[in-house]
Amino acid sequence: MAANGEEQQTQAGRHQEVGHKSLLQSDALYQYILETSVYPREPESMKELREVTAKHPWNIMTTSADEGQFLNMLLKLINAKNTMEIGVYTGYSLLATALAIPDDGKILAMDINKENYELGLPIIEKAGVAHKIDFREGPALPVLDLLVEDKKNHGSFDFIFVDADKDNYINYHKRLIDLVKVGGLIGYDNTLWNGSVVAPPDAPLRKYVRYYRDFVLELNRALAADPRVEICMLPVGDGITLCRRIK
Ligand code: SAM
Ligand code: CA
Repeated sequence: MAANGEEQQTQAGRHQEVGHKSLLQSDALYQYILETSVYPREPESMKELREVTAKHPWNIMTTSADEGQFLNMLLKLINAKNTMEIGVYTGYSLLATALAIPDDGKILAMDINKENYELGLPIIEKAGVAHKIDFREGPALPVLDLLVEDKKNHGSFDFIFVDADKDNYINYHKRLIDLVKVGGLIGYDNTLWNGSVVAPPDAPLRKYVRYYRDFVLELNRALAADPRVEICMLPVGDGITLCRRIK
């Protein structure tokens, strides 16, 4: 977008929304999307979870409301039933998933931190979708290794959302490619990594952004070269790369 919209913004009005990671150059345009498309249709439970999360000190980690709406729509479009999420935090994307899949749908959800999940859990329970969630506390990789060991899990997932430790995404991909069904989707989140993927080497980046940037760049190269998937990188949230398994 042209800088005009940006110039019209006051500093105080900039990117106030919790969890926003919009890559749009115009904050006004992002606000327009939220106010016109997202908030008017956001389920009450997601609004409540978003507001609870906004008070948490690590709220920067949450999935943004527009991305939540996107995931919810995507899951319905592909009729996802058996799903997985790596990286739950307080559960905003988890709730978006749980609300989208059928009543007998499943989400295998993993996070090293259970406390944050428990912050959102009462809201997920109140929404009547907690029975779809199998939450496992701990690092995801050993759980994936166990799943891969058992051939009956191969090709069993319709959708997998990866939103955790970026330095492990390649390791996740090596396992997830067997677990997702042919025609199913893996979504890797934050693949534009605060826009830092195109930052010059000497750009002043926050420490964690700089640290993970090379891993994100490596993942993006690997996905682009992987003949087992078709890919589509979308500038939603902080960038999400959808991978559709084709073999
Ligand atoms: N999808 C979440 C949402 O909608 O709010 C946001 C997830 S947050 C960006 C990343 C999460 O990954 C954190 O809650 C963190 O505890 C978790 N995490 C980090 N390393 C992990 C690992 N090795 N295995 C599983 N979860 C991990
Ligand atoms: Ca994310």
